[in-house]
Amino acid sequence: MKFDVIIIGGGAAGLFCAIEAGKRGRKTLVIEHNAQVGRKIIISGGGRCNFTNADTSPENFISANPHFCKSALARYTPRDFIELVKKHKIDFYEKKLGQLFCRESSRQIVEMLLKECEKAGVEFQLDCSVKNVERPEFFEIETTRGKFMSESLVIATGGLSFPKIGASDFGYRIGKQFSLRFTQVRPSLVALVLAGGNGYSKLAGVSVDSTVSAGKHSFRENILFTHRGLSGPAILQISNYWQKPVPVSINLLPETDASQLLHENRHRSQTVENFLAGLVPQRLAELFVAQNIPNKPLDQLSDREIKHIAGLLNGWNVEFSDTEGYDRAEVTLGGISTDELSSQTMETKKVKGLYFIGEVVDVTGWLGGYNFQWAWASGFAAGQSV
Ligand SMILES: Cc1cc2nc3c(=O)[nH]c(=O)nc-3n(C[C@H](O)[C@H](O)[C@H](O)COP(=O)(O)OP(=O)(O)OC[C@H]3O[C@@H](n4cnc5c(N)ncnc54)[C@H](O)[C@@H]3O)c2cc1C
Repeated sequence: MKFDVIIIGGGAAGLFCAIEAGKRGRKTLVIEHNAQVGRKIIISGGGRCNFTNADTSPENFISANPHFCKSALARYTPRDFIELVKKHKIDFYEKKLGQLFCRESSRQIVEMLLKECEKAGVEFQLDCSVKNVERPEFFEIETTRGKFMSESLVIATGGLSFPKIGASDFGYRIGKQFSLRFTQVRPSLVALVLAGGNGYSKLAGVSVDSTVSAGKHSFRENILFTHRGLSGPAILQISNYWQKPVPVSINLLPETDASQLLHENRHRSQTVENFLAGLVPQRLAELFVAQNIPNKPLDQLSDREIKHIAGLLNGWNVEFSDTEGYDRAEVTLGGISTDELSSQTMETKKVKGLYFIGEVVDVTGWLGGYNFQWAWASGFAAGQSV
């Protein structure tokens, strides 16, 4: 039961690291507590896995140390992963903004990784829970399927999001056990809950092309009203930067200067609601009018009222009370501090042979295939070193 490398967590990063370690002739074992590896890959991208982003750059990642991800991302690029996908004859397409998806099914990515693991001689213990980890001389991993030993131990157990498919705090616990620091974690790439509700649940299902901003960060994509707040790609993106009480501003007419438009139409007798319904979805226009705006003919609006309406359209300030939490979040932001790790190899500086890769590390990507690219790249970096 002695291995060169044991990887705990058979997700994107763990499988990729296993392939690279195995290819180097390292006797490698993956321990996974689910009965199946790669469950998150399977549900990702709506079942089509947005497996990378062709335009990945370090600017698409959030970390206390924004430079940390550079080395790994440079050594294993989206092009490298695309070559692998092509080699396995998996058909894919670019949906938008460099986001590459499987045309058929995300299961193809798991099958590809498993084939590569098999070729590299990787062994698996599935349905296997780790009870204890010690490091007297080698790493000793006590599990529900017996005791395993290794020279190198890679923690690839991901973050806390989607606990129903196996997410656990195992990585952070191991970090604590070996006295490693970690940054505060929180759910991210997640829908946000509107403070007070304000009757917006009536709008559930309505979607608007918008620019959403928090602090210095802005994203232009759709927002989607939900029963409790807002979702949609623009909101998921901004959730990476949102924390209470950071205000979020939504420009519902990114291409239009609403003040100018209102002034140009000020001579008309059309009601505000009818006018707005030509600019934003009818139900949103109705709600704005019911809550914030006098429903007068445009030619009766005062300068103050025009300013107020234009402000709502070009800079609707929205207060959120919370996120929809880990049950709905695509990722966990934060994690094992990058200060503890070598950016070349992902090995901890304090404990020789101990590595952390993937989402458990304080590196979080934007929405759009970046998180998988980080999983592949950090897995690759560790796989060359273990
Ligand atoms: C619904 C959803 C959709 C997503 N879609 C995309 C997308 O299209 N593109 C993209 O880039 N990113 C997407 N993501 C994010 C992406 O899935 C993750 O960032 C990525 O999977 C992280 O890889 P990882 O290997 O670090 O962790 P994971 O893939 O989560 O793998 C961790 C593995 O460790 C196992 N594990 C956990 N604890 C233990 C333990 N104690 N013992 C043994 N095993 C354990 C888990 O069961 C799991 O198999 C999505 C996430 C979700 C939730």
